[in-house]
Amino acid sequence: MPEGDSIWRAASRLNEALAGKIINASDFRVPRFATLNLAGWTMTEVVPRGKHLLMRLAGPVDEEPGASRKPRALTIHSHLKMEGSWMIYPPGGRWTKPGHTARCVLRTDSADAVGFSLGILEVVPTAEEEKIVGHLGPDLLGPDWDEEEALRRLRAEPDVTVGFALLDQRKLAGIGNIYRCEACYLSGIHPALPVGEVPDLAKTINDAKRLLGENLGPGRRTTLGPRALRPGYWVYGRERQPCRRCGATVRRGLLAGPDGTEERDIYFCPRCQPAP
Ligand SMILES: [Zn+2]
Repeated sequence: MPEGDSIWRAASRLNEALAGKIINASDFRVPRFATLNLAGWTMTEVVPRGKHLLMRLAGPVDEEPGASRKPRALTIHSHLKMEGSWMIYPPGGRWTKPGHTARCVLRTDSADAVGFSLGILEVVPTAEEEKIVGHLGPDLLGPDWDEEEALRRLRAEPDVTVGFALLDQRKLAGIGNIYRCEACYLSGIHPALPVGEVPDLAKTINDAKRLLGENLGPGRRTTLGPRALRPGYWVYGRERQPCRRCGATVRRGLLAGPDGTEERDIYFCPRCQPAP
């Protein structure tokens, strides 16, 4: 799953390329929306919500006498899941990914946006966006970030491991595997520790929030400031390498969800993050 900062960057690029632009042609290559034509619609904005991308469009004003002059509003909702991406090309420009993986093509006078291998692609009335993303917890990168609400949702299930809870987008939105491993390390807690036993849960989620916020530019790193030249992580992907703080060997393990499923890799320092 992508991290929230990836979605934030994708939304930012798409918004820059498409906001205010009129769609000249659209092509939805999924059965449910194969006949949908958004030509004439205007992209108003592209916003991230957790790991979801919302492209908001305003419909052409209906000139029929007596018709409502209020523009209709639609949202293209997509989720990148494991393999997905949105690419931006000059109009008619050559694609850099295989054409058969394209799921959505939006053409404007100044750019073509193509969504490849999208995990979710659907079009809904903007008024119904909440049905799609309303279940999400507070967004770590959102303008409406609510720390108290995130803590409340996390603490509501105190027996769940903190490593699993941080990935649960219903509790708080935006953390993927990299930042959950790094945030646990920075808090000195093992990912298998139950949420209810984390000494300072607010610090843990604020560490994750800070790391996400520091990585909204190109490249990603957690150990050094955003302007540093040498990128790296504290523990993520560093199996068998020495801990940057204590020198102990970083380990990789698996952490299961509460029902024993959805095992994901965890990376941790056995000395800085003692097993519960
Ligand atoms: Zn260590």
